[in-house]
Amino acid sequence: MIEKTLVIIKPDAVGKNLIGEIIARFEKNGLRVAALKKIKMSKEEAKGFYIVHKDRPFYDSLTDFMSEGPIVVMVLEGDDAISKVRKIMGATNPAQAEEGTIRKDFAENIERNAVHGSDSPQSAQYEIPYFFSTLEIL
Ligand code: ATP
Ligand code: MG
Repeated sequence: MIEKTLVIIKPDAVGKNLIGEIIARFEKNGLRVAALKKIKMSKEEAKGFYIVHKDRPFYDSLTDFMSEGPIVVMVLEGDDAISKVRKIMGATNPAQAEEGTIRKDFAENIERNAVHGSDSPQSAQYEIPYFFSTLEIL
């Protein structure tokens, strides 16, 4: 099924000049960039984005990290885009990520893990309009 998913290149990876390398991995796996921009979230915006994690012990630290510097947000489209992106990213904790995944190659630790991808159609439905209007998704 053709799906859309929200992907973020997180501040750690943007800071290491990895934007092109990371987008290339998605494109080489048949995903298409439908929308893309570089922004910087405020702490409040990061808290809103990760509201599902509000009761987790890492919520404050995670939202500090996600608002510490610029990020690249994009909508990727393709066959089974949601699960495909999760597979290309690898496990949340880079110590458990498979060889050849983005997190295995570029994540620093379980928090500073280079990329985000929506984990379900419901998440994508919340996350895509958080950053993009209909007119920006092509
Ligand atoms: P993401 O939602 O960013 O794609 P994920 O779905 O693999 O990652 P989640 O469980 O949704 O992982 O956690 C969201 C983010 O919170 C992680 O990507 C990571 O940056 C951070 N995080 C998750 N678990 C921990 C933890 N135990 N300690 C610190 N940070 C964590
Ligand atoms: Mg998640």
